[in-house]
Amino acid sequence: MNLDSQLENKGTILLVDDIPENLQLLSDLLVRLGYNVRSVTSGRMALKTVKVKCPDVILLDIKMPEMDGYQVCQALKADEDLQHIPVIFISALDDVFDKVKAFESGGIDYITKPFQIEEVVARLENQLIIQRQQRLLKQEVNNRREAEEILYHSRALLASVLNSSLDGIAAMQAVRNPTTGNIEDFRCLVVNPVIAKVFERSREDLIGKLVLKRFLSHIEPELFGHFVNIVEKSETLERDFYYPSGESFWFHFVAVKLGDGFAITIRDITRRKQIELALQQANQQLELLANLDALTQVANRRCFNNRLLQEWEELAKEQYPLSLIIFDIDAFKSYNDYYGHLAGDDCLLQIAQAVYSLIRHLDVNRPADLVARYGGEEFAVLLPNTDLKGGAKVAERIQEAIHDLAIPHIKSHVKDIVTVSLGVAALIPSLEVKPDILIASADKALYEAKQQGRDQYCINDCQKL
Ligand code: GH3
Ligand code: MG
Ligand code: MG
Repeated sequence: MNLDSQLENKGTILLVDDIPENLQLLSDLLVRLGYNVRSVTSGRMALKTVKVKCPDVILLDIKMPEMDGYQVCQALKADEDLQHIPVIFISALDDVFDKVKAFESGGIDYITKPFQIEEVVARLENQLIIQRQQRLLKQEVNNRREAEEILYHSRALLASVLNSSLDGIAAMQAVRNPTTGNIEDFRCLVVNPVIAKVFERSREDLIGKLVLKRFLSHIEPELFGHFVNIVEKSETLERDFYYPSGESFWFHFVAVKLGDGFAITIRDITRRKQIELALQQANQQLELLANLDALTQVANRRCFNNRLLQEWEELAKEQYPLSLIIFDIDAFKSYNDYYGHLAGDDCLLQIAQAVYSLIRHLDVNRPADLVARYGGEEFAVLLPNTDLKGGAKVAERIQEAIHDLAIPHIKSHVKDIVTVSLGVAALIPSLEVKPDILIASADKALYEAKQQGRDQYCINDCQKL
């Protein structure tokens, strides 16, 4: 530290005395001790000079002409800008009455002449220390006020973020077992109105409470361990969960570690889930429609082709037989011609449904059996795990079922009711050949049945081809 700053640090003293010799003496002593000293010889000059530059302490003589020390002191104390400057009276008067008057007029201390310089310095230092401490205190108060203001603003900002968020936001703190240190539950530190609404509780009901374990016990107790892992293993947890609350059912949450706890945001995804569900249902419906024949309500050709390929590959691996029946309504052209196209449609529907129902009930342990409309008045029945003998039996039952329907057909040259001709083929599929071979083989058997007079089935063991 250089001399200048030392001088400055010691404080500025204003000496006021009407006798220049007194001033000189004290001034010299104080300057030598490192104080910054200014001297004036009248009260009026003192009042003028303090306005220009404020001293730290005023040493004020009482007995002066024109304006005495008391008056100067009163004038200082009456001025808002100057009243803080401590005034130490310095006078030869040693009367109790004067001392009282000195204090009454606003003086802070009193030194009698003749003085010892040590006493003056001690009393000056007292005032300077008090002043310095007052300055520090003022600074401290200002700093606190600023910090409080910042805190207030940031709290208000945080509160408005939490309150205006469309998502639920909460912060939880781990509550640990004092002996083992294990997390036993979580305490709710912060919770915004959206979360309070979802859980149908007031924020006051949640803040500070151990709520998580009890809440999870109602919906998914195993989830608690995952929340512990967020804190212990810094794992992020992100999930959809079902929780009926008012008009909402589905929520999505993301929880991340925050100190010895976690922060969680929760979003209502009910609308999205509803759309997803509707879309899923629509897709299923579409899938169903795409595989269904509109007239007969059994599987269509597209579905048949897919299933044939699927079964072909599967049975080729397992080396089990696959049977196929293709049947065709006899003399259907004349049925249409005589009964009309709408009656023809109805006949197709009846036959398809009768065969469908037969296949469903014939062996309930064979859900993979498939009835499909193959073409105009041609149907196919796919029978996995069924050999030629089994296929022939089913063909026979189909023929009977059509007889049982007893749909009149007076124009048929076969019988007076609607009949069908059937071709049966079977083989153990192989990945080296295409399934077309099975279709061709069943077709060939059907042709034979037609050739041999209709209303019958023929078999074709294509394994022997
Ligand atoms: P065959 O005994 O040799 O089978 O003689 P058929 O008359 O049944 O055979 P053909 O192939 O000559 O005639 C089939 C008829 O089936 C012709 C067609 O109008 C009819 N048909 C095909 N699809 C439909 C349909 O969706 N509705 C109706 N009503 N008739 C259909
Ligand atoms: Mg026909
Ligand atoms: Mg035909």
